[in-house]
Amino acid sequence: MAGATTTRYGQFINGEEAPGADGTHRPVLDPANNRPFAEVAEGTAEDARRAMEVAEKAFRESPWAGGDGSQRVKVLLKLAQSLEAELDRFAELESRNVGKTLREAKGDIQFVVRTLEYIAGLADKLEGETIPVPGGRLDYTIREPVGVTVHIAPWNFPLVLSVRSVAPALAAGNAVVLKPASLTPLSALAFARLARTAGVPPGILNVVVGSGRAVGETLVSDPRTRAVSFTGSVEVGQRISELAAARHIPTTLELGGKGPVIVFADADLDRAAKGVIWGIFGNAGQMCWAGSRLLVHASIREPFVAKVKALAEKLKVGPGLEAGVEMGPLVSPEQLDRVVGFVEEARRDGGTVVTGGARLTDAARAPGNFLAPTIVEGLPPEHRIVREEVFGPVLSVLPFTSNDEAVRLANGTDFGLLATMWTRDLATAHSVARSLECGMVGINDPPLTFPQSPFAGAKSSGSGFEQGSRVVEAYTRRKNILVNLGAPRAG
Ligand code: NAD
Repeated sequence: MAGATTTRYGQFINGEEAPGADGTHRPVLDPANNRPFAEVAEGTAEDARRAMEVAEKAFRESPWAGGDGSQRVKVLLKLAQSLEAELDRFAELESRNVGKTLREAKGDIQFVVRTLEYIAGLADKLEGETIPVPGGRLDYTIREPVGVTVHIAPWNFPLVLSVRSVAPALAAGNAVVLKPASLTPLSALAFARLARTAGVPPGILNVVVGSGRAVGETLVSDPRTRAVSFTGSVEVGQRISELAAARHIPTTLELGGKGPVIVFADADLDRAAKGVIWGIFGNAGQMCWAGSRLLVHASIREPFVAKVKALAEKLKVGPGLEAGVEMGPLVSPEQLDRVVGFVEEARRDGGTVVTGGARLTDAARAPGNFLAPTIVEGLPPEHRIVREEVFGPVLSVLPFTSNDEAVRLANGTDFGLLATMWTRDLATAHSVARSLECGMVGINDPPLTFPQSPFAGAKSSGSGFEQGSRVVEAYTRRKNILVNLGAPRAG
């Protein structure tokens, strides 16, 4: 089983595959059957420090940082083209590693290609300003790369969420150390290899795989780290903030969510129902911006929930790589147990499981981490399953009777990432959008983003932003230069 078909991956440091410092390997499991299909050198704190050393040297010595931005444009575009040419291989790797459907994985890799193209165009547009000051002096600013930047990614969209911060850091001329999630390191390692071939100099993009505690904390605390981008849970985000604050290191934090989907009585209910399905069962619900709370006007609750239930029950659940499958397994047995625990607690507390709620135990799916698409209702807004991030294919339903109540419920969690709503009424759409405490609002669409749109959370969902034309600035230092051009006196 293990030995015959597994592929071995090393760390990626200084432009080449490297074994881990202590020589151990971690198996990488296929979530559709929990069998190992690859293994990865397990990184240690020593590997993390070596990657930092290499990155800092590359930052100082390679032409990447000091050089002409147009060279970085070319390399990043070439990387986009190489990735596009290998889209099928990368999508298959991502699908097998995360469990997501091949269609979803292809969408992910296309998003990464588009991100690289978009960000490449910013690498030669890092402009400064000229600032008017009193006589005989010139005052101007320049944008410089900060040095070595550290990027820590989660397992749900491994390559998308790595590259969306790595690309702008590279575009700005920094050297990067990336730590992917231990469960899903393969696409990041393959990407680093591709980047080297596309012309990213050795040491400018390094990937260290290993535990959050040993590798992640070592990277964030390293004295050479100049900026940190973290995507993951609120708890780990908090820890990273503390470590970074101790050294005054700027952070971008993209954390969890508990997205409300508000369906008003005048909405196009067929489209809304499809949007709800994609928003909670896409990627098996393992999405920070999942629409996991359905807030539906009481007057349409019954027929609308029936529509969503019917669509949920039609979804084909199976291995992500199998043709026709619409929802894959959860990433790990632990994640499945956690999600099932939420549903069991909801049942115990009097919630109604409208559909799903059970593991899939037929012979083909029992070895994997499969859960039926699940809808729960009849619980108050303060119940754990309604308020906390489940991170699985579980939708909670809450009725509302007025726009004010919808907004109050939508804002009633600690999170504030994406809220979506469905209505035909422009005034409702825009006024509710302004009242929502969150970083992103979607109107009459399921969760959707583009590399050119800022992606950001409010409240516990994070700080700073990724994507958009200004993202490169987060990985630069703004330096002011004041020149005396012959002014008669100093001071
Ligand atoms: P996680 O916080 O457990 O892990 C994320 C990454 O941090 C992993 O690489 C992990 O190894 C590393 N890590 C863990 N402990 C660490 C430590 N002490 N120091 C440094 N690094 C450490 O999250 P996860 O389970 O991989 O991902 C799921 C979470 O990510 C969910 O909460 C989800 O909402 C969130 N997420 C947010 C966004 C967003 O853009 N806002 C996107 C995707 C996922």
